[in-house]
Amino acid sequence: MSKPKPKNHKPRSPFSILFVVALGLAIASLFLQPDFTSFQGEKPTKVSLTEMLQSYENNELASIKIKNDRVLAETNDGQSLQTFKEENATVADLGFNNPDKKTNVEIISTTQQRLWMNILMGVGPFILIVVVFMFLSRKLGGGDGMSGPFGFGKSRARIFNSKMAKTKFADVAGAEEAKEEVSELVDFLKNPKKYEKMGAKIPRGILLVGPPGTGKTLLARAIAGEANVPFFSVSGSEFVEMFVGVGASRVRDLFKTAKRNSPAIIFIDEIDAIGKKRGQGSGGGHDEREQTLNQILTEMDGFETESNVIVMAATNRPDVLDKALLRPGRFDRRVNIDLPDMSAREKILTVHGSNKKLAKDINLKEVATKTVGFSGAELENVFNEAAIFAVKRKQKNVKQLDLMDAVEKVAIGPERRNRKFTDKERKMTAYHEVGHALAGHFCKEHDPVHKISIISRGRALGLTWFLPEEDQYSKTKQRLMDEMVSLHGGRVAERIIFGDNQLTTGASNDLERITAIATSMITRFGMGSSKVGPVCLHHRDYEQKPYSDETARLIDMEILAFINEAEITCEKILQDNLVKLHTISEDLLVKENISREEFVAYFETQ
Ligand code: ADP
Ligand code: MG
Ligand code: ZN
Repeated sequence: MSKPKPKNHKPRSPFSILFVVALGLAIASLFLQPDFTSFQGEKPTKVSLTEMLQSYENNELASIKIKNDRVLAETNDGQSLQTFKEENATVADLGFNNPDKKTNVEIISTTQQRLWMNILMGVGPFILIVVVFMFLSRKLGGGDGMSGPFGFGKSRARIFNSKMAKTKFADVAGAEEAKEEVSELVDFLKNPKKYEKMGAKIPRGILLVGPPGTGKTLLARAIAGEANVPFFSVSGSEFVEMFVGVGASRVRDLFKTAKRNSPAIIFIDEIDAIGKKRGQGSGGGHDEREQTLNQILTEMDGFETESNVIVMAATNRPDVLDKALLRPGRFDRRVNIDLPDMSAREKILTVHGSNKKLAKDINLKEVATKTVGFSGAELENVFNEAAIFAVKRKQKNVKQLDLMDAVEKVAIGPERRNRKFTDKERKMTAYHEVGHALAGHFCKEHDPVHKISIISRGRALGLTWFLPEEDQYSKTKQRLMDEMVSLHGGRVAERIIFGDNQLTTGASNDLERITAIATSMITRFGMGSSKVGPVCLHHRDYEQKPYSDETARLIDMEILAFINEAEITCEKILQDNLVKLHTISEDLLVKENISREEFVAYFETQ
């Protein structure tokens, strides 16, 4: 078995050398002006020709240098003077040839320099054009050394040679099951012979499925790192932005390069960007995508048994992938990476805290409990933001408070204190948010209130942050209903307090989410009444909805019924708690933030 030879993946082509030379010349032609060096570094004083001649006659000049139309002189006391003459006026014409004078007169020839200039002026623009052309085609062609104008379509896959792919399984925290599932791939890449002898077939294509930021790329890289093999990665979205006809040849080159360096890993990130179901959708780049996809399929089918190349792909939308991609021999093995649970979050935090200065009061378990639903990437971001807080606050190390503030910043965005609102806007926002909070608070299965704020963040004027107490893997019908009730809270509170014609545009996002929940309940989860029945009517897979207009009407009515039911529940809660709505909203207007503890306290004292 050949060892990985990562150093040879990018031979310096003669064109890249030409490129450097051309660039150098072009720059030189821009900056190389015939220059007249003065005697000292200092700027010469400008004088008239008559004055210069006068000084010469008065024996005040130590030396004179003449070049083209310029005359530069140094006086006996070290001053430099400069003046101009007609280009073809000679020393004799000017009278600088008096043999009685001790002044040293020197004429600087410019013919040699002129020659150079002429060459540069003649060739420079041409070189510049070539350089620009090469630069452009490098950009379009992908930017690695091989794809100049003559290497169009060479794979853009970045290579991390064995030294660079330092990522190890230990860097992927918490994803124990996924690591377990892929560990045999590492063994295979290390000892392919062992498996060949046994006649065992190792999966060729592995599809990593999981939400964004859960460590799919990280895991793929860790497999390469553990097995010490080269890792070629390319992203599906890069294919989309390419020229027609380039995608397929990219894929061909990618696979060719990987095979030449086998054992190796090819990693196709965001495969859903190219691997969507074929024969649907329209518009530009569509055929291109199909050709690229077909080329991937062809390459995967064409693998000989000896080529020890493993193809991995990542997606967070496995449902949109073309079935052909998932057939045996292609991406037939699926590894799921879920959002980290409580203990996984703690482990991920530990990994990212290991290179930071931590105070003694750090409690990562507490951070883990406050970050339900965060991905690995978000947790990494939390630690980074905490470190930034620590620097801003001029601390020696990162404290627990920095971490908790960072959690908030990552979860709900940074505060925007310098946005100015009218008193009316602030007041409406306060009632809107407390409306959400109260409605949620009185629902049976709703997450508890974590924070209410009327400090603007992102595009939101205020926010109510509900935080689950533990990880959840499914939701009940009651819970979904409750979510709709609390989402109604903002708008309903505005209406109760300020009247129907004072409703603001601030509730549009709430309504969007309510509609999405109700629609899913009916068409995906079979939670509607018996009129629609427990049918999955979700039509993501089809161009046209797979049901009659009759059913469509029924669905619309059921969705509306749920939305209305939730609104009625919400209205009742707020009417029953009008006093609380006023008290808490007024307090919020003063305090700007209300914490979970403060909120709960309103319901304890009677
Ligand atoms: P994905 O490819 O699934 O979108 P990435 O692998 O790009 O996610 O993850 C982004 C970053 O988040 C990683 O570089 C890593 O720093 C961090 N990260 C994600 N998951 C984990 C994990 N399980 N352990 C440690 N760090 C993680
Ligand atoms: Mg990724
Ligand atoms: Zn709202």
